Amino acid sequence: LAVHRDPLDLFLADVTELPHDVEIVTGVACAHYSDPFALFPSERPPPAALRPRTAEGVQAIVVAANLRRASLWPISRGENLGYGGAAPASPTSVVLDLSRMNRILALDEADAFCLVEPGVSFTDLFERLKRDQMRLWVSAPGYGLGSLVGNALERGIGTGPAVDHASQVCGLEVVLGNGRMVRTGMGALPGSGMWQRRASGLGPRLDELFMQSSFGVVTKMGLWLMPEPEATAVVEAQFASFAALAGMVDCLAALARRNSALVAVVVSSYLVAAALLSRRSDWGSPRNPLNDATEARIRREFNLGWWCVTLRYFGGDASVDRGVTDGESAMEAMSPIRVDVSRWQSAHSEGCPHRTTPGSAGLANRLWCGELGAHIDFSVALPLAGPAVLRHALRVRAALSEIGLDYHSSFHLRERHVLNVVQILFDRSDPSVCAAVDRVFRWLIAEVATEGLGLYRAPLRFRAEAVAQYSFADHALADVHRSLKNALDPNNVLFLGKD
Ligand SMILES: Cc1cc2nc3c(=O)[nH]c(=O)nc-3n(C[C@H](O)[C@H](O)[C@H](O)COP(=O)(O)OP(=O)(O)OC[C@H]3O[C@@H](n4cnc5c(N)ncnc54)[C@H](O)[C@@H]3O)c2cc1C
Repeated sequence: LAVHRDPLDLFLADVTELPHDVEIVTGVACAHYSDPFALFPSERPPPAALRPRTAEGVQAIVVAANLRRASLWPISRGENLGYGGAAPASPTSVVLDLSRMNRILALDEADAFCLVEPGVSFTDLFERLKRDQMRLWVSAPGYGLGSLVGNALERGIGTGPAVDHASQVCGLEVVLGNGRMVRTGMGALPGSGMWQRRASGLGPRLDELFMQSSFGVVTKMGLWLMPEPEATAVVEAQFASFAALAGMVDCLAALARRNSALVAVVVSSYLVAAALLSRRSDWGSPRNPLNDATEARIRREFNLGWWCVTLRYFGGDASVDRGVTDGESAMEAMSPIRVDVSRWQSAHSEGCPHRTTPGSAGLANRLWCGELGAHIDFSVALPLAGPAVLRHALRVRAALSEIGLDYHSSFHLRERHVLNVVQILFDRSDPSVCAAVDRVFRWLIAEVATEGLGLYRAPLRFRAEAVAQYSFADHALADVHRSLKNALDPNNVLFLGKD
């Protein structure tokens, strides 16, 4: 009599036979891979997770998945909070958890780079640099327990000096969906010491192919770090009026163009600070949106403006000095509530106060809406033009206010555009709020697309909708992605549902 065995059981049985160190997680322990910020809790956690220790183990798992047509969902540390966490898109996918692969394989002080495995967190690298007294810095996001690899592959952003983490990636090792292992750029030259020193080899540069894609599992990543500068400074200015945003953005863009030591410019709404220091219930009924008077009271209490501008300078003494003088007077000219300046010079003191220490303090803002608070992030790329940025801010603020939610927003200025991250803080215990967030998020995706604007990073729940807006020539770009997918992962074993 033929005994029918579940395909998942057959796949897991194959994995247990592999000559590699792979932990298999099943049963209740799989709840660990649910998204703690999910709008609607998934009906059930993933059926299993595999935790390999080596790249060869990853490759063997992907080969086995091809044989059994199993579906894998790779994560590095799974801390993608606000964008979907560790949870797979499909309930049948097995999580491929790479957090046990946590070695820093190379660290070069002279050429300022590292080579890391996917399980290395921002905190791990920061501690290692400190321990070894290396004069190298790493930029970190607002939440530092995530991985360097997952964050860079998702095009994460940090405090600098190199704020766009994907742009610092130099060389990947990848297990493709078809089970082949490749090294990009100079890494394809056997024995080359050039892998993290030059981003391209001969031919197209492929690192980008594995960012926000579903074509492969990254098992090693090179990342450029920043040599400790001679000097740093932070200028912080508070501005009272919401409408001042347009003028501020134009002024800041000009400022950044004038001074190369100005490496990070961020404009944040007052709630970014206030949500770390208090809860919505401290200011009235947690069910009601904040009105103008309450918002003004919160700002008075914490001595905040509507907007806080943060300018971060890194570089040589003279260049930082010039930049700060220029920045301070530009801020003063815009009638701020106040301007604070803090400077540091390596020649005069150890331990720069402006060096980011990655950590989890930022997580405190999830409690703004109560014990079951969370956030989901609406992240759009905008033109570097004040009126367009203000229009976007008004639109998102109004949409959130209509469903009783508050405006927690930061604008990260780049050379030619602005990245806006709105953390939509909400109460997960209220299904009607979750349904409203779901509705407004979809509306906003469609609304910004009418102006030719799109998300640059999308929560998994809304990813397909956000991708669909990139529709030029009858979705020609999506067709190219599909062709690449078919070539590199013909059995669709990776990232089922991440289209
Ligand atoms: C309070 C707070 C503040 C935050 N601030 C920031 C911020 O300032 N900047 C920012 O960028 N983010 C921020 N985040 C979002 C998020 O927490 C970080 O981006 C985090 O680094 C992502 O988690 P991770 O690195 O563990 O990635 P993972 O969850 O491991 O991976 C993210 C995604 O990348 C892909 N992926 C991961 N690993 C691989 C691999 N090895 N091969 C192929 N694909 C892979 C998968 O699609 C995966 O779902 C914040 C979150 C919170 C809660």
